[in-house]
Amino acid sequence: MPRQPQAQTTSSPQPPEPVTAAGNPSLHDANGILTIDLGAITANYKTLVARVMPGECAAVVKGDAYGCGIDQVTTALSAAGCQTFFVAHLSEARRVRAIAREAVIYVLNGFSSASGQGFVDTYARPVINSLVEVAEWDHFVSTTGFSGSAALHVDTGMNRLGITIEEAAAIASHIRSESHHIALLMSHLACADRPDHPLNDQQIRQFREVRSLFRGISSSLANSPGIFLDPSTYCDVVRPGVALYGGNPMPGRPNPMKPAIGLKAHILQVRNLSRGAAVGYGSTWTAKRDSRIAVVAAGYADGVMRAAAITEGRKPREVLVAGKRCPIVGRISMDLMALDVTDLPVSAVRRDQMVTLIGEGLTLDEVAEQAGTISYEVLTSLSRRYHRVWKA
Ligand SMILES: *Cc1c(COP(=O)(O)O)cnc(C)c1O
Repeated sequence: MPRQPQAQTTSSPQPPEPVTAAGNPSLHDANGILTIDLGAITANYKTLVARVMPGECAAVVKGDAYGCGIDQVTTALSAAGCQTFFVAHLSEARRVRAIAREAVIYVLNGFSSASGQGFVDTYARPVINSLVEVAEWDHFVSTTGFSGSAALHVDTGMNRLGITIEEAAAIASHIRSESHHIALLMSHLACADRPDHPLNDQQIRQFREVRSLFRGISSSLANSPGIFLDPSTYCDVVRPGVALYGGNPMPGRPNPMKPAIGLKAHILQVRNLSRGAAVGYGSTWTAKRDSRIAVVAAGYADGVMRAAAITEGRKPREVLVAGKRCPIVGRISMDLMALDVTDLPVSAVRRDQMVTLIGEGLTLDEVAEQAGTISYEVLTSLSRRYHRVWKA
């Protein structure tokens, strides 16, 4: 006889556990827990503040604050004294403005006439990235009387966004003499994470020359690795992102930042495999001995990059099971992955146990390297399917 659904046999059915406005699933509904340590993010912010003093330390909170939660991070950093935020999109500026009423907010992806009203609504500042944007901004300011400001982005070698040095030189006197509301001159370093790269010196030198054309306007050059490159990059405002969230701003050297995230997921089942049996799509991994496999409820839809699985010649990505590192074996599926737990005692691995994907000594940067990517991508790929917990 089929069992009755519980709701019909219970006199007062329990309402489903609430999902918060941000769509945060409950612990029981979720495949794992993502813990975000706002205390560590705040401590990292203060470390950078002290380092660049008397320069100002802004915070880059684009990409949902690198996956850490734009609302929570903005709240924490505002409380820590941060007064300037950088985002990529106006939609992100709206989130920051709802929390940081007085803050200066820069929108990196620029200005277009169509987005003008959004800048009025949020009182955010566009980062002007081309001469077309300069023209549209001028037109917008003069026709609407908008009193807000903007940043002017000069490209010094990244060749991504920004006006050229020649363009900057050509419009400098015009910008200074008229009311263009340019409050910040900025550029972006392409190779700051490689201190020996010759482009760093070249960009620093060229930005110094550009600044001399725009005297009296504040300037900003350094991202996280730039802050650890050379004090000449500090200028008036620094723009760290990844270092706030615990990523190493000095790859290959000891990380001066505190780890800010921990990630755990559930084991759904443990299975025994005979030697010669294969695991996962494509049967890419074959057991070389009788093995035990733990199947974990996290996959590439959760930000465990499929490329992180064993590939020839590269160390496999590891996961901590009961404190011991175990390799991911076979292809990573959308919602699942398999770990080889043969070397652990049978009693140490059971269904429902949590395994650690990031944390407890398995660092964000190490995980990124094992996945063939960078900490930035690991952070921004963390899915909303995890139950997210923000520690104060
Ligand atoms: C993303 C971004 C930053 C922050 O970079 P990190 O390396 O994460 O510190 C700073 N400036 C610009 C222009 C950016 O796009």
